[in-house]
Amino acid sequence: MARYVGPVCRLCRREGMKLFLKGERCYTEKCAIEKRNLPPGQHGKARKAKLAGYGLQLREKQKVKRIYGVLENQFRRYFEQAERTRGITGVTLLQLLERRLDNVCYRLGFGTSRSQARQLVRHGHFLVNGKKVDIPSFSVKMGDVVTVKAGSVKNTTIQHAMEEVKGRGVPEWLDLDAARTAGTIKSLPTREQINLPVQEQLIVELYSK
Ligand code: SF4
Repeated sequence: MARYVGPVCRLCRREGMKLFLKGERCYTEKCAIEKRNLPPGQHGKARKAKLAGYGLQLREKQKVKRIYGVLENQFRRYFEQAERTRGITGVTLLQLLERRLDNVCYRLGFGTSRSQARQLVRHGHFLVNGKKVDIPSFSVKMGDVVTVKAGSVKNTTIQHAMEEVKGRGVPEWLDLDAARTAGTIKSLPTREQINLPVQEQLIVELYSK
């Protein structure tokens, strides 16, 4: 599946907020938002206009896509799936994105960022219920157990990321057993447990036009 490979700090500057796309660097003063919170490009300063209506809805969609590293077509499919599912479409959309295996590995602290977790998944470092899964978009369900493969437990990237998560914490809907390098999906995340500063309703409005 295709993914964005350009400069990521630029994406945060475009949205005017930290999207935490670079792992550790995002928590330091080297973060581009800390240094210069202006839209990218020569006319960045001039583009800092107040948004309303369509502009606001579009920015909200772009923000969520960028946070989860999903491109337009795939994002649209998530939306269509959310629409077909019973419940509040915006919340269901966020739940579907949270359930992606790369996101779960990031949340459990097996990667310092979603993109790093995605690469680790691609390289086959994780098992879901004992079976190797190397598809970042794989959707976990309640009761699933995500484990670091025995041969990958000593992987320095994973070890390093697990040190870092001690400060970040693991969301309540997941249960991390650090000694076993395993995490269990205790429940599906509620909106309150998805700690993202987004107004998902605006995305629903945008796609409902
Ligand atoms: Fe965004 Fe992280 Fe870059 Fe800061 S360091 S601008 S939060 S990707």
